[in-house]
Amino acid sequence: RIIAATPVSVNEEAIERALRPKQLDEYVGQEKIRGQLEIFITAARQRGEALDHTLLFGPPGLGKTTLAHIIAREMGVNLRQTSGPVLERAGDLAALLTNLEANDVLFIDEIHRLSPVVEEILYPALEDYQIDIMIGEGPAARSVKLDLQPFTLVGATTRAGMLTNPLRDRFGIVARLEFYTPEQLTRIVTRSASLLNAPIHEAGAREIANRARGTPRIANRLLRRVRDYAEVKGNGEITKDIADAALKMLDVDTVGFDLMDRKLLEAILFKFGGGPVGLDNVAAAIGEERDTIEDVLEPYLIQQGYLQRTPRGRIATTLAYEHFNLVPPENE
Ligand code: ADP
Repeated sequence: RIIAATPVSVNEEAIERALRPKQLDEYVGQEKIRGQLEIFITAARQRGEALDHTLLFGPPGLGKTTLAHIIAREMGVNLRQTSGPVLERAGDLAALLTNLEANDVLFIDEIHRLSPVVEEILYPALEDYQIDIMIGEGPAARSVKLDLQPFTLVGATTRAGMLTNPLRDRFGIVARLEFYTPEQLTRIVTRSASLLNAPIHEAGAREIANRARGTPRIANRLLRRVRDYAEVKGNGEITKDIADAALKMLDVDTVGFDLMDRKLLEAILFKFGGGPVGLDNVAAAIGEERDTIEDVLEPYLIQQGYLQRTPRGRIATTLAYEHFNLVPPENE
């Protein structure tokens, strides 16, 4: 299945890591979050304490993992990384927690997918830096309390609404990441191109930025494909025309929608008369999973005003009709 914002190979993952900003002042955009973190990190450092537990939420590719790494670096501590679905048993989490050094960052991606037993272990760890573990089996089993070093949990999720209330309540800092503006993405593309030693024109960077769905990961991925195109079809320089031709070849349209975005909008427009239509029907019509539609595809379409989520289902907006050269119905 296609997840638009996920790195596609080991090599791409390595490049993505290399393009990751390492400190807060290299991190483009998200001014509000950056300003807050700067203060909270400085204060925690001055007191020699761990930073408060931090929840980062927003669609994939907006920089949650990057921010977790930056937090650890700015705090001057280690980062341990895992994800909700990987932590299957309570013991998996206990092993990680007991190995943390003072003020370390534990980063849990997809934290909304923690199993209930693992979450149970997490509560006292977050509140009192303690865990209860069971030793032995059957009648001889007993529970033992272990003290942990103070630490910071950084949790990332695409949907804060999927977290259980007790878990959400234990985060002292909650930050919602926003889509990036074309100007911010232009800066990211320009910086990445220079790290990749790819010559790029301002207009070329802007063309990629305009068509990257407000998402740095997509911007960087498109940049790599455009660079390939420029090297094979041109002289290596990424101009506006080269970028435009490459993006056309990649089926990224002028507003940045890819095949899946268009498939989703087309299904709502052509198969369901513009909506309202329920998520399950849309999912069946385009052969995509509900989660992917909700987490990856819809947020950008909604933010850009092409789609609306209503209690009765999804509705295509006037903008969506116009994008496909259709006449919107009179009384929308
Ligand atoms: P998420 O964890 O939210 O899915 P990542 O942190 O993995 O997203 O970010 C994806 C890529 O986008 C990173 O490799 C990084 O290069 C780039 N990126 C993300 N946010 C920023 C930013 N604010 N400034 C510059 N580059 C960014």
